Amino acid sequence: MTDFSEWFHNILEEAEIIDDRYPVKGMHVWKPQGFKIRKYTLEILQNILDRTHEEVLFPLLIPEDELAKEAIHVKGFEEEVYWVTHGGLTELNKKLALRPTSETAMYPIFSLWVRSHSDLPMRFYQIVNTFRYETKHTRPLIRVREITTFKEAHTVHATEEECEQEVQNAIKVYREFFDILGIPYMISKRPQWDKFPGAKYTVAFDTILPDGKTLQIGTVHNLDQTFAKTFDIKYETAEGEHEYVYQTCYGASDRVIASIIGIHGDEKGLCLPPAVAPYQVVIVPIIFKKGAEEVLEFCKDMETTLKNAGLRVYFDDRDIRAGKKFYEHEMRGVPLRMEIGPRDIENKNAVIFRRDKLEKETISIDSNEFIDDINSILDDIGQNMKDKAWKSFNNHIRDAETIEEAAREIEENRGIVAFHWCGDEACGKELEEKVRVDILGIRESKLDLYKMPLTEIIEQEIDLIQKEETAARECINCGKSATCKTLIAKTY
Ligand SMILES: [Zn+2]
Repeated sequence: MTDFSEWFHNILEEAEIIDDRYPVKGMHVWKPQGFKIRKYTLEILQNILDRTHEEVLFPLLIPEDELAKEAIHVKGFEEEVYWVTHGGLTELNKKLALRPTSETAMYPIFSLWVRSHSDLPMRFYQIVNTFRYETKHTRPLIRVREITTFKEAHTVHATEEECEQEVQNAIKVYREFFDILGIPYMISKRPQWDKFPGAKYTVAFDTILPDGKTLQIGTVHNLDQTFAKTFDIKYETAEGEHEYVYQTCYGASDRVIASIIGIHGDEKGLCLPPAVAPYQVVIVPIIFKKGAEEVLEFCKDMETTLKNAGLRVYFDDRDIRAGKKFYEHEMRGVPLRMEIGPRDIENKNAVIFRRDKLEKETISIDSNEFIDDINSILDDIGQNMKDKAWKSFNNHIRDAETIEEAAREIEENRGIVAFHWCGDEACGKELEEKVRVDILGIRESKLDLYKMPLTEIIEQEIDLIQKEETAARECINCGKSATCKTLIAKTY
């Protein structure tokens, strides 16, 4: 992939993911193929969240005075808010904002819902569209004015400790989600000047796209009591005292789908994880003049068998050349192709083509055990794609000892560069200027990020961090003693 930007633009059109000709800048139409990927991606996250959260749905419009209540929060969004000013021809007394995010829509209602300590914790999520007037160059799924698929969770807790614990739970939720999608990620704590407006701190997930720039794919915010105080969300303790609650919120957007497409794709087009592929298996009949009927009938039965086994299957019986079908399904990223011709029927075989490895093999379809084979091949495809993605991701993370080295690494190889830093805001901003990058965040063992079921890769990383944290080091920029290891990158 020589030019990722061009590749991405073309594949969205060619694979019928979205139509970007909608006449409002930054807003796009989901086409059937894209919508299916979106739907299966959402289902994965919903299944995870449904174990601990309840789904709700709040209105799109937020009254001006509610949005403005939390001063820091509104300041963070003021340049990005779309306003509804009229109802028909009548000017509204109170302007209404299209939600840029939903804290100020939800929390006035939370103050009515939260009564007693026995109500807590509360965990909700909703999947909605949000609107932001982006002034930078827009790009489908990556920088948009209508985020069509914002998955936002909001939780309410009695104590600070429970709130901290929820941040860890949220991190677990996203790790599980991204692991299923095979998307690699770096988890870090955003610097204070880049946290969510109104939050105590923000933890973010970043991945790396093929052009070496990082893409933020999920964030978790500890809101502490800031919003509780603004919106008067209190609960009655067992002793009858009234206390403010603690809150978290976390979200992920259309960018998750952008990263599925970008990270797994190749020069042949999409390569979709079986978990989200609109069709996991496509059946292509190999037809000759003689015995065509028999082959079509056999394939039709095969379609039924696989569908009954719970797989998403497409039987491509269109009257076009098989080669054209191959090309199209490879471009659309169908994980597994099954080719069946007269000889295969005779030998009770089928030819299987794996999109991830671009390899063919022959499997027996003599007994119904072949369905287990198909399922394990699909699992292996998902695993292989994930391993490949993590390998490439880790090749893009490097250490630097001097600021010149950091600048050179970023310039030549992009990706994420890690080094020792004092943690001071002025120094950090100077650094961002000098190297012309963004500070992604800080790796902190205090965040307790790594005490969960781990991949081998992360374990190696922990060793590295622990080793480095114990050593006395200097800030790469100002020379003061380093307090942390920070990460920089060119970001989307
Ligand atoms: Zn410094």
